Amino acid sequence: MNGYADTIVRVDLTTGKVSKEPTPDKLKMDFIGGRGFGAYYLFSEVPAKTEPLSPANKVIISTGPLSGLMIPGAGKMDWTTKSPLTGGYASSSLGGMMTAELKYAGIDSLIIEGKSEKPVYLFIENDKIEIRDAAQFWGKGCFEVEQEMKHLFGEEFQIAVIGPGGENGVLFGSVNHDYGRQAGRGGIGTVLGYKKLKAIAVHGTNEIKVADLEAYRKAGMDLFKACKDAEGLKPWQSYGTTIVTSWCDEVGALPTRNYTSGSFEGGKTLYGPVMRDQIVITDKGCFGCPSPCGKYSHMKKYNTRVEGPEYETIGMLGSNLGISNIEDVAEANRLCDDLGIDTISTGSVIGWAIECYEKGILTKEQTDGMELKFGDPEMVLTMIKKIAKREGLGDLLSQGVKKAAKKIGKGSEKFAIHVKGMEQSAYATHAATAMLLAYMTCDVGAHHNRAWAITYDLQVGRAKVTPEKVEKVIWFQNFRPMFDVFGSCRLQWVELSIDRDLYCPALEAITGVHRDWKELEKVGERIWNLTRLYWLREVEGFDRNWDMPPERFYTEPPTSGATKGQITKLADVNILLDMYYDQRGWTHEGAPTPETLSRLGISEFAL
Ligand code: SF4
Repeated sequence: MNGYADTIVRVDLTTGKVSKEPTPDKLKMDFIGGRGFGAYYLFSEVPAKTEPLSPANKVIISTGPLSGLMIPGAGKMDWTTKSPLTGGYASSSLGGMMTAELKYAGIDSLIIEGKSEKPVYLFIENDKIEIRDAAQFWGKGCFEVEQEMKHLFGEEFQIAVIGPGGENGVLFGSVNHDYGRQAGRGGIGTVLGYKKLKAIAVHGTNEIKVADLEAYRKAGMDLFKACKDAEGLKPWQSYGTTIVTSWCDEVGALPTRNYTSGSFEGGKTLYGPVMRDQIVITDKGCFGCPSPCGKYSHMKKYNTRVEGPEYETIGMLGSNLGISNIEDVAEANRLCDDLGIDTISTGSVIGWAIECYEKGILTKEQTDGMELKFGDPEMVLTMIKKIAKREGLGDLLSQGVKKAAKKIGKGSEKFAIHVKGMEQSAYATHAATAMLLAYMTCDVGAHHNRAWAITYDLQVGRAKVTPEKVEKVIWFQNFRPMFDVFGSCRLQWVELSIDRDLYCPALEAITGVHRDWKELEKVGERIWNLTRLYWLREVEGFDRNWDMPPERFYTEPPTSGATKGQITKLADVNILLDMYYDQRGWTHEGAPTPETLSRLGISEFAL
């Protein structure tokens, strides 16, 4: 099949062996690429109940059939592993420039196995794949290493690197690339840190064969034209994801002071136009992107620069911590990126710690003498460094909010905002039932990008609990992650509203295989069910309790803002879950039935 590099590369860090094998045709048909390949290899090759931080765990880095080609935003790659944060499936999408270089180097998936004795990095230049000593880079921040490697190898090399957070075992260590893009969620950087793999540097020059060059050229141009003509292009390009900050504040979805509210009285100074005016110096995009959402910022107060902050980071390191100065938020963002820790999880654990302190659950003895209060940027910057070093209170927080709350107890579990052990990203869901369900059932834990359903809640009635809402969430979950399978960005569809049908001729021209969205959604559903099986296999006693939202969302109405006093009742939470399982073809405890697996052609994976 065309559109692939046709090679899977394995790097065994224990033995130092590098091997190659052809990309199986069945894999291309059934799982297509990217996230599909990652889910397949994780389920098939990492033995059941493997410790996430053990040599047997693998990190699977996959491009897709669109990656590196002339398709809008075709610069995405998937990173999959068993998560040290949640103990289940982790998959994170990374933008930037690296996926194209990996594909041009002739690699569909790069599978990192084993564990090195000493720090190493991986050097890839077409057929030349070498494991090299990384002593000079270990312990350094992501920006410094990326810059040093670019100087050593050349600007054409693309670098993915972990920071001290991942090296030190912070359970939400991220992978960083292109001075500001991350595979941020679930601790993929932590697994690489355990394996002592500091970085991957890659450059390739091979061509990618497409099935029908003329049809590919036309389909690509149609997609680019649709983006160029889109009404939403100008505002999106001006503000990127920060376009939603004001909307979230107005509708009560902006996480504020550890999700005690969905509106922030200091929110206006965090809005997109304010940020653009005060700190943004230029736009920055991924490979082949006609609508760059990255904003490169200069923080005069600190004399530093960062790509960002994007909306999730503003929500979690800004309003969620009571911080209203965009420069402070951007500096917190820069520190997290450089130290290699996820901004969303970091904002969540610090918010939880502040609330613990306010309630007298954590005392000054436990906070290294620090006063924890909302709205204190200096404390936040100090705490980020402590988390990355696992120093003092930072050691507790480095384990994520679920484990930290379990250790501290005293009722703090009630306001630990996570699902399945993953800290919830930046949408308050006290009164937004579709978005609440999307978080509850997301395949990696409480992450928004599989099913961004909150606008639908507002459209049809935020408190409604209906089969239509459940259907919408499932549709999103089957369909939206397909962009991670293709190796391209979903935001042209989401934000510019380009016709998703334009992708089908492109995929066909590239691969030579005709597929419509009905068939593609079935692939998405197949992957969703496979990852569900993964949770069931890996986590002892995994049942519907694992799909329950943070208690705060059904017990404590927001104290202010648009959703003041509104809440989703526990009974409704359970109704949502029952309807979801029923529509998915799962049991009352959330397990896919044999009929569902058979319908999706994955009975071979039945437990
Ligand atoms: Fe990258 Fe943003 Fe463009 Fe998507 S919209 S490809 S994330 S720059």
